[in-house]
Amino acid sequence: MRVLAAEDNPVFQSMLRSMLVKWGYQAVMARDGLEAWKILESGESPRLAVLDWMMPGLDGVEICRRIRSLRREPYVYILLLTARTESQDLVEGMDAGADDYLTKPFNAHELRVRIRAGRRILDLQDALRQQATHDGLTGVLNRNSILERLDQELARAARASEPVSVLMVDLDRFKSVNDAHGHLAGDAVLREAARRLQGASRAYDTIGRYGGEEFLVVLPGCGTADALSQAERLRDSIASVPFLFEGSNLRVTASFGLTCTARTPSRDVVRIADEALYEAKASGRNRVVTR
Ligand code: GH3
Ligand code: MG
Ligand code: MG
Ligand code: MG
Repeated sequence: MRVLAAEDNPVFQSMLRSMLVKWGYQAVMARDGLEAWKILESGESPRLAVLDWMMPGLDGVEICRRIRSLRREPYVYILLLTARTESQDLVEGMDAGADDYLTKPFNAHELRVRIRAGRRILDLQDALRQQATHDGLTGVLNRNSILERLDQELARAARASEPVSVLMVDLDRFKSVNDAHGHLAGDAVLREAARRLQGASRAYDTIGRYGGEEFLVVLPGCGTADALSQAERLRDSIASVPFLFEGSNLRVTASFGLTCTARTPSRDVVRIADEALYEAKASGRNRVVTR
């Protein structure tokens, strides 16, 4: 894990660096506040920062304020190093958005466990974010997240005058999988279907679970012809190889409703893809229909 350490005093600086490296962190060093800020506001900032309070350019507290006002994800955990001990000062530092502080001169062991505590908080936050945005069964985005992504891509497409394609996918006669083999088999098929759709997708396409056995796929920058061949690949990834469950081979297929747009509100896009899907069902299933 990368840790940013900002410290203007060269002695403290090399001490910090060697401690971090010894504890297995990748130390990213900054010699003053401006340098630290440049690293933090770049897209590539470490998630954990140890900032000296008193530094030329920008002090640690001002950096805290700036980071928090960016409100950027993922969260940066900040540990302030301070020579001050007045409680009023500490309140100011925490108010500015620091997560923790350590008074200089500090004990190496203490810094080590404080950094570890910060890491635990970041890990916990990652786990919570993952839970809030992903579907528990299949691991793809959940309904809210895929609709949010659709909105973002539609907004971007409208700005750039580029197409976005959207696929509504529904497993065929899925109820009969549950009826014939039980819900655990149904769950396993859903997981495997999501895995196959993901595996057959392009890196910049996004898949979400829209409902029970329905998936929504967003294909940014993809015109109708490309989206159609991509949809056929996805369809084939489900239909061509039987699903294995407890020694039985299950034949699974899915129907696809496809629509391509440059500027349609997301609610209408979903409705149109849904209508295309309905048509795919009505005309025999295991096929792609474009609207
Ligand atoms: P069609 O081809 O018309 O889509 O038929 P279908 O049977 O797939 O459609 P229907 O809407 O009748 O049934 C969907 C089934 O999906 C019913 C429901 O029990 C099942 N289902 C939804 N979510 C889950 C899930 O998380 N796990 C399992 N095992 N089954 C699910
Ligand atoms: Mg200093
Ligand atoms: Mg359905
Ligand atoms: Mg179905």
